Amino acid sequence: MGHFCVNCGAALVPRVIEGREVEACPNDSFVLWHDPKVSTAVVVEADGGIVLGRRAIEPGYGLWCLPGGFVNDDEDPAVAATRECLEEICVPVELTGLIGVYHIPKTDTPSMVGIAYRGRLADQAQPAAGAEMLEVGVFKLDALPPLAFPSHKTVVAEYLKSQASPAVEAPRLEAAAAQRAGRPLRAPAPTTPRRRR
Ligand SMILES: [Zn+2]
Repeated sequence: MGHFCVNCGAALVPRVIEGREVEACPNDSFVLWHDPKVSTAVVVEADGGIVLGRRAIEPGYGLWCLPGGFVNDDEDPAVAATRECLEEICVPVELTGLIGVYHIPKTDTPSMVGIAYRGRLADQAQPAAGAEMLEVGVFKLDALPPLAFPSHKTVVAEYLKSQASPAVEAPRLEAAAAQRAGRPLRAPAPTTPRRRR
């Protein structure tokens, strides 16, 4: 399908820029770049597990997901993440760390860059379903329901891995701190295998 310039309305024409074929305006500098959307997800720790919401909208109607959503143009991703938590599970959430940044490929819509945080509920906060959720629940880590999105499955798997082996994280952080301070690195202590269910 043909597209048009947002500046002058001219029909865009194919052009190759840095080896990529794009649509560009023949009159001015407008290029229709297909940039990824940026989205956040938060693993919210609560008493006894993590908070999930069951979706009241498509995609994934009726399925469970992490709170989160798209980052606005003028918004810090961390602010977007906490805003989405307020909207979806109706509680203030304090972000406590970054789980990871993920490429989420899509075929029919722009691909996404997913930024996953861990966070925790403010004291005494009780999650409740926002407008886009049918219900919210706190799930134990060994009894999680099927999730709506593959990207959320990846995030939760990463989170579970970090919970299962905190001993692996510690030497790495220590090594990074030593490196910054210009001290020689010690070999990381061997990690003992842990039993998994
Ligand atoms: Zn133009």
